[in-house]
Amino acid sequence: MKIILFGPPGVGKGTQAKLLVEEFHSAHISTGDLLREAVKNKTILGLKAKSFMDAGNLVPDEVVVGLIEEVLRSDEVRENFILDGFPRTLPQASALDVLFEKLGVRLDSVISFEVDNEEIIDRLNQRRLCRGCGRIYTIARIGTDLKVCPQCGGEVYQRDDDKPEPVRRRLEVYQQQTKPLIDYYRKTNRLIPINGMDEIGYVHKLVLDALYKDRIK
Ligand code: AMP
Repeated sequence: MKIILFGPPGVGKGTQAKLLVEEFHSAHISTGDLLREAVKNKTILGLKAKSFMDAGNLVPDEVVVGLIEEVLRSDEVRENFILDGFPRTLPQASALDVLFEKLGVRLDSVISFEVDNEEIIDRLNQRRLCRGCGRIYTIARIGTDLKVCPQCGGEVYQRDDDKPEPVRRRLEVYQQQTKPLIDYYRKTNRLIPINGMDEIGYVHKLVLDALYKDRIK
């Protein structure tokens, strides 16, 4: 599988990516996770990215394209991957096309998740993460008091950019810079729209059905 998961923040890309990784044993390439790791480790890249991320803005194209180039250098990753959160701008999408061409990679599908804006704001407001295993929780299920991950004992926290002000900015950025990619990928016939409003397991089933149908085509 060589797929891109596309959609606004909070649409469920990370959650669906984890389920697809279990199914296909793919490499999960999340630029958000890679950047957060760099920020945590205070690398040069992390220091460069932090202020953009905290404000809900995009990190400059050349930084994230460089990251992806680095990851796709591995033969194993190139064979079977799920890109989550990349590309997010037209220049990133064209840089990725150039990179794929150079590496001989043929993209299978771009899964585009669609969810109402109100639902997105609610999901991001409710989202909590585990610092240890990266598991995603929602406070409607776990309550606001859960501070320790039941799976690994890690700290459960809210991302700074999931707070109301950065969320507003992230949604604006999505509308202005990322949404135009829908047309870009529609033209290549690789775009598969998926209704992301349903329950996680059902959305996963929709994704699998669509991927298998696309393979048979
Ligand atoms: P995410 O975890 O995908 O929501 O990403 C969190 C933040 O990381 C975003 O709000 C951006 O600041 C940054 N980021 C992640 N992926 C990209 C990308 N492809 N281009 C630019 N910035 C990105």
